[in-house]
Amino acid sequence: MRELSADAMSIFAKYGASVLFITFTANPKCPEIIENLRPSEQTTDRPDLLARVFNLKLKSLMDDLTVHGAFRKSIAHVCTIEFQKHGLPHADILILLLADDKFSPSECIDKFLRAEIPSSTENPRLHEIVTKCLMHRPCGIDNLGAPCMEAGQCKKMFPKEFQTETTMNVSGYLLYRRRPSGDTAFVGGREMDNRFVVPYNPYLLLKYNTHIKVEVCTSLECGEIYL
Ligand SMILES: [Zn+2]
Repeated sequence: MRELSADAMSIFAKYGASVLFITFTANPKCPEIIENLRPSEQTTDRPDLLARVFNLKLKSLMDDLTVHGAFRKSIAHVCTIEFQKHGLPHADILILLLADDKFSPSECIDKFLRAEIPSSTENPRLHEIVTKCLMHRPCGIDNLGAPCMEAGQCKKMFPKEFQTETTMNVSGYLLYRRRPSGDTAFVGGREMDNRFVVPYNPYLLLKYNTHIKVEVCTSLECGEIYL
């Protein structure tokens, strides 16, 4: 993945586009898998079924990203598939957008990217998906053995800071709106707020009902953070 990412960043340097970093993870509890298990079978008994459903959904997602322009017109993409320790596949995807299609922070809030827990009364389905699939697991002093911990710190830098609006720092790195108010969710026995939400696109979450993390960067310096 790192070599392919380096290639993508070379294209990025040439065309000056925005880059989307997307992680798409299989959902072992999706209906297409659960409904096709034989009696007494668990998802872990059917890696073939899991892989088949994942591949079909990944193909559809790539069509959304590269053909249908879910995030505007892409000029190049990179996609690699890896299997996690417990056998779940996930895909790391880079989408390069035209230079003219750079995101502005306000667009990220309204149209493409969010990092807040949706209201359970106004948008219950999206609320359910985000709280199940897009919350960073407890780490730090709450869980020093979490996989994200390195030298006593979360290498993903959670919890993030509260932000009243999305802004972009000088490196082109987006600081997403994470307001201190709104819904919270219990994850691993701890009450989590917007500081623990992984950035997501509402349309893709509602369509695929699984973990789809979306990050955007607009500079090479920023891209180095994600590689
Ligand atoms: Zn962490």
